[in-house]
Amino acid sequence: MQIFTKINDIKAAITLLKAKKYRIGFVPTMGALHNGHLSLIYKAKAENDITVCSIFVNPVQFNNTEDFEKYPIQNDTDIDLLKNSKCDLVFLPSVKEMYPEPPTEKFNFGTLENVMEGAFRPGHFNGVAIVVKKLFEIITPDKAYFGEKDFQQLMIIKSLIKKLNLRIEIVACPIIRESDGLAMSSRNVRLTEHQRKIAPEIHALLKKCADHSMEFSLEHVKSEVIKSIEAIPEFKLDYFEIADEENLQPISNWSDSDTPRAFVAIFLDKVRLIDNMKIFCNFAKS
Ligand code: AMP
Repeated sequence: MQIFTKINDIKAAITLLKAKKYRIGFVPTMGALHNGHLSLIYKAKAENDITVCSIFVNPVQFNNTEDFEKYPIQNDTDIDLLKNSKCDLVFLPSVKEMYPEPPTEKFNFGTLENVMEGAFRPGHFNGVAIVVKKLFEIITPDKAYFGEKDFQQLMIIKSLIKKLNLRIEIVACPIIRESDGLAMSSRNVRLTEHQRKIAPEIHALLKKCADHSMEFSLEHVKSEVIKSIEAIPEFKLDYFEIADEENLQPISNWSDSDTPRAFVAIFLDKVRLIDNMKIFCNFAKS
């Protein structure tokens, strides 16, 4: 496995690989890797000749200084995990390498970014778009792999691809969970023992919501889930929404969408966790 820290060096390596007609699969990450990230690496390996993983904690996508400062960094462990996963190339740039000047580009994702993460983390998706555009320019992948864990981000990236007319296939990968249901996240290591014990309730509530979609009105299901979240003193709810998974607009009735998905963001003290779950309601629009 080759490790690069300089843009020009990885670009040169990729030019050589492309000359051999190798297909490049790319997995962008912020490191502190877990099995969720590795599932993306395995998928990229299965579908491409060369797999590239980037590790870069992107300062411009953080709207909260403490979240950025406390973001876990474990490059040595990450490199071992990537070696074991037979990843081919790793790109580990510094902030100065990625942003010699502070980036100023502004994107407009319209209604996709006005809700949920976009509404609660102003500037977040602009920062994500800035870094992903730059990484795509450097790596020039054939396919790029993103987790449904960050479902809204996935839709923003698909929109970015269209906006920039890039010929990169975006591959959506399912959420990988701990055995107790908690969605794997780099931020989970920041939870106290007690917080870690109660955090799987987020998944349990999403599941309850999905399971009861057939029996009750959307309004009822939503208010019951919100009540349950508010009943847990350690949870501070940012949002719980049921939205159409294509346009991400919140819906008020099950019949408003063929593809509803529940989305949640919760603080446990200073640690913010997000999760989401597809709702299969085959009676929608009937
Ligand atoms: P991050 O390092 O958090 O920026 O995540 C890098 C990529 O891994 C993103 O596409 C995430 O959606 C994806 N990812 C993170 N956690 C999971 C998970 N539990 N299951 C699947 N994909 C994930």
